[in-house]
Amino acid sequence: MAILIKGSELAQKIRENIKNEVSSLGIKPGIAVVIVGEDPASKVYVGRKEKATLEAGFNSIVIKLDKKITQAELEIKIDELNTDNDIHAILVQLPLPKHINSDEIIQKILPHKDVDGFHPLNVGKLWIGLQPYSVPCTPYGIIKLLEENNIQISGKHAVIIGRSNIVGKPMASLLLSRNATVTVCHSRTANLKEIASQADILVSAIGKPAFISEGFIKEGAVVIDVGINRMPDGKLTGDVDFNKVEQKAGYITPVPGGVGPMTIAMLLYNALNLCKRSGSVSK
Ligand code: NAD
Repeated sequence: MAILIKGSELAQKIRENIKNEVSSLGIKPGIAVVIVGEDPASKVYVGRKEKATLEAGFNSIVIKLDKKITQAELEIKIDELNTDNDIHAILVQLPLPKHINSDEIIQKILPHKDVDGFHPLNVGKLWIGLQPYSVPCTPYGIIKLLEENNIQISGKHAVIIGRSNIVGKPMASLLLSRNATVTVCHSRTANLKEIASQADILVSAIGKPAFISEGFIKEGAVVIDVGINRMPDGKLTGDVDFNKVEQKAGYITPVPGGVGPMTIAMLLYNALNLCKRSGSVSK
């Protein structure tokens, strides 16, 4: 039976530490969260982020924009936040409406205010081993979970299923820089099950409920479930068929209560870091 990796517990610890640090910082880190339109899932995520940032003592503003906003209008909004000295961190909730070019918007955010670590400068720095202003929150949270549980990364075969810019690719970079041998799989991968079942560390970021059955798992593997899937009964479930896989894995993250809470904790961590690096904090 696998050991449960409790992301909610580590996330709580990180959030407490951040709250304590913020209270003695002398200024409030300012974070702006931009949401465009009425996507229900995005509204839930933004609500959680706002609550967490306020609880940590941040100055948090949520900017709600109409779904019909133009590219130019949204870019002006980002520019305003870029030049606002009270805002240290900017997050644009994705996905944006189809008529907006998300890549252009991400590039508009100043790299030193890019709390998600999605700006090409930060992505490039991450890949070539320079310190980015921010490391993408979800994969960064996964690294913290592995470290907290003393799970060896160096020399291990890590298989990541999913190649998004948000999860799969930065996860690959972070594991590679910690000396794992990394395989990235995706929707066109042939022999997925065969490759996954060679993994010492398996990270699934697909978005398909219970897709990863026990046949994908090597005995004793570390299984990290990034997927968040809402079922018809309203409950959340991951990509991993938890009840079956936990019989075979060595470690496993639950959904909910695994990777999700860590993503929020690392958002706070990144925002505090941007504030400290901004020069607003007296040394
Ligand atoms: P995405 O849709 O951008 O990417 C999904 C990836 O899965 C793609 O690279 C695709 O090639 C791959 N894929 C799809 N079907 C596949 C298949 N049958 N076999 C192999 N690969 C397949 O999604 P994303 O933004 O990376 O998110 C993935 C999942 O993680 C979603 O469920 C999302 O809600 C969740 N997520 C969770 C958190 C968190 O904090 N826990 C954060 C971000 C995303």
